Amino acid sequence: MICHIEKVNYIISFCQKLKVSNNEIWHDEHGDYEIVIGRRILKDFVNTNPLHKLIISDFIDCAWIPLDKSFIKPKQSYPILSIGVFEDHNKAREYCKENNLEYLTAPLPLANDSFGTNRIGVPNGSSVKGGYPEKTLFDIELIEKLPVESNILGVGEFLGLYTSIIDYFSVRLKNPPERILSFIYDLTCILQTSIKKDKQSFIKNLSVALVFKILIMRISVDYQVGCGADHILANYYEKYFKLPHGKAVFFGFLMMLLIFPKWEKYGLTFHNMERFGAEMGLVTQTELNKITAIEILDLFSIAHDMRLKRKTNINPFNLDKKEIDFMRQRIKYYRGIKKWDTLH
Ligand SMILES: [Zn+2]
Repeated sequence: MICHIEKVNYIISFCQKLKVSNNEIWHDEHGDYEIVIGRRILKDFVNTNPLHKLIISDFIDCAWIPLDKSFIKPKQSYPILSIGVFEDHNKAREYCKENNLEYLTAPLPLANDSFGTNRIGVPNGSSVKGGYPEKTLFDIELIEKLPVESNILGVGEFLGLYTSIIDYFSVRLKNPPERILSFIYDLTCILQTSIKKDKQSFIKNLSVALVFKILIMRISVDYQVGCGADHILANYYEKYFKLPHGKAVFFGFLMMLLIFPKWEKYGLTFHNMERFGAEMGLVTQTELNKITAIEILDLFSIAHDMRLKRKTNINPFNLDKKEIDFMRQRIKYYRGIKKWDTLH
């Protein structure tokens, strides 16, 4: 089994509790993992808990988090705390692996899932296994201070889970776990409503959505369940269009819904998600025109070459002419060359 249904149910009930509480502890064979979500929690935490080392992102103005440095004591028994984005958490994960230390994370902004995975990025673009964090602190007040464009990147990272899961299971000729997909759908509806109404509740819901994603990857035998075809395409968009990860994943996710319309049956549809992306400010029509102008077989070949070991539905060697033609047609319809209703 790749995903045990009891474990999936445990994650869903954990995330449901987290939506209405501020502190929950996850337990599994990798250890305990505490999630704290609240206002002004980071400064208090740093000033009352001795740390071995603190890693803070260069772009974070430390005036935000006035720290009592006396609590940072380089003792091997104390953990490391990383505050920031991928590079910071990656540094902490690597250092902790080498020095056998525990680490804690605080994502700022909510741009991706790097705060909660066990993957250490290596220079060739792939990753190796490290440890999982002991605790993650989501400081809503600090996250809120960052520009909304950086926080919405996390929505892209979260939505990619939908197409990653379908890709992962369908390419192995298994049915995708509908319980996970329907919970992604529910969380997406909540994000769509909360982004229009209230910034704080949006941040809280997005924190829960990202926790959901990292827990699904954590219980899965294979972490690739969380980085399927959307992530393979994202690597291409990151490299050739210089897009940030969350945005690139969102484009990968949209592209998968566009060329595999049967994947919409689990709830999320291309048109709805395209609209959501535009409402959030995560995508523009110009960007979508650019992305959909790439010849599909070139895109698949280059993207697949960058992640050769991954089993995916967009492996150009496994697609026949009919399938590729259908995808080309879908893209043509999208680009306004033909009318949507005549296709299917
Ligand atoms: Zn990702």
